Amino acid sequence: AQDGPEAKEIAQYLPYFPFKGIPRFYDIGGFLYEPAIFQKIVDIFVERYSVLQIDVIAGLDARGFVLGPPIALALKKPFVMMRKAGKMPNTICSDDYKTEYGNRSGMTLQKDKITEGQRVLIIDDLVATGGTLSSAISLVKMLKGTVVECACVVELKMFVDPPADSGLPSRTKLFKD
Ligand code: IMP
Repeated sequence: AQDGPEAKEIAQYLPYFPFKGIPRFYDIGGFLYEPAIFQKIVDIFVERYSVLQIDVIAGLDARGFVLGPPIALALKKPFVMMRKAGKMPNTICSDDYKTEYGNRSGMTLQKDKITEGQRVLIIDDLVATGGTLSSAISLVKMLKGTVVECACVVELKMFVDPPADSGLPSRTKLFKD
């Protein structure tokens, strides 16, 4: 679905606005308001992940909490939350990281929600620099799980390999391992 007609149709329901100093802030509120489009997005992910072995689905605070649960329910797999620090008991925490908007504190995950060897799918709405996803990946690794894939609705391609003087990490490098 990445570049096909379905992606073009979905893109019509993903408006962007200037927001908090960001010239193009993509608003997933656009497709959440359209049940047929929201359903199509969920179906695309469910089709892909029903044939890969997945044990746990992890969603990132906050929009991964909207997209992850319908996918987890359709696949009949447990859903776990990755949240900012101080929101859940019994957690581990990843290192602080950089995004397109500056530094962010590490994410947290409850220690008992992923066990050694489990295969994990990570879900968020959008990937830009990949800082947030790599923080999520490190949480899964800390609990000795395996990340099968990271799934997002929107990819900002300009952050794959940003200019060296931007101070941002290269997403290719971040995800190499
Ligand atoms: P990254 O860590 O630089 O890849 O940024 C991705 C994270 O920032 C995700 O958790 C997104 O929800 C959030 N984000 C960045 N840009 C946007 C946007 O345009 N719309 C919605 N969320 C965004």
